[in-house]
Amino acid sequence: MILIKSDHEIALMRDAGKILAEVLMGMNERIVPGVTTQELDDWADSRIAAAGCVATFRGQPGMVRGARPFPAATCISINEEIIHGIPSKQRVIKDGDIVSVDCGVTYKGYVADSAFSRIAGNGSPDLVRLLETTKRSLYAGIEKARPGGRLGDISFAVESWAVAEGLGIVRDFCGHGVGRSLHEDPGIPNYGKPGTGPLLRQGMTLAIEPMFMLGKEKVKVLVDGWTVVTSDRSPAAHWEHTILITDNGPEILTKWAQV
Ligand code: MG
Ligand code: MG
Repeated sequence: MILIKSDHEIALMRDAGKILAEVLMGMNERIVPGVTTQELDDWADSRIAAAGCVATFRGQPGMVRGARPFPAATCISINEEIIHGIPSKQRVIKDGDIVSVDCGVTYKGYVADSAFSRIAGNGSPDLVRLLETTKRSLYAGIEKARPGGRLGDISFAVESWAVAEGLGIVRDFCGHGVGRSLHEDPGIPNYGKPGTGPLLRQGMTLAIEPMFMLGKEKVKVLVDGWTVVTSDRSPAAHWEHTILITDNGPEILTKWAQV
């Protein structure tokens, strides 16, 4: 069942989204060659706590049998890693790396979830195209989040950008409703048919999150039980916003200056 949020719930989600946007903006500034993913996570963790929030991802149960609960505040995934990378003191970011940061915060019981990819230092034109297309597909999907539309409109808009640029789509993971919990109904695939799926209504809060890769679409999970990588080790990118459907169209709750 897709939950419709009350005005009170929406106000709390706006606060959660604003706090998360500030955390991600700070992370973006700190992604430089030489920094470790642990240092980035520590910074985010302290900001989340200082804002009176809980780091939503910490303690999330693993999907793979035997995987430990997620141990950090953020997922930081590099190059062929698509999502769910675990921050580590051993992981030093290098010039030209794609760094994908995903973070969730819970504020007074309400969750915001958002992600971005950027290149540390300088990247090749192919990497720039991958990142730019993934980001544009997110905004194309968001644009379709309007009352009277269908969920498939969002999925199709995202998919169309990947198809136009010849990129692979991650099909094993998808976007989702968000708010009282990190993952609510509906699942939001990054491919679909326009005019199909649940009717979109004012008061729905959705996390739309395209994940594209330069190579083949097959993915696998590493032995840590979390990190999802492209099977052919081609680079991947991930963008995500938490949005609210209003009478006037989409409102991005996790928007920050550069995006
Ligand atoms: Mg996320
Ligand atoms: Mg999400």
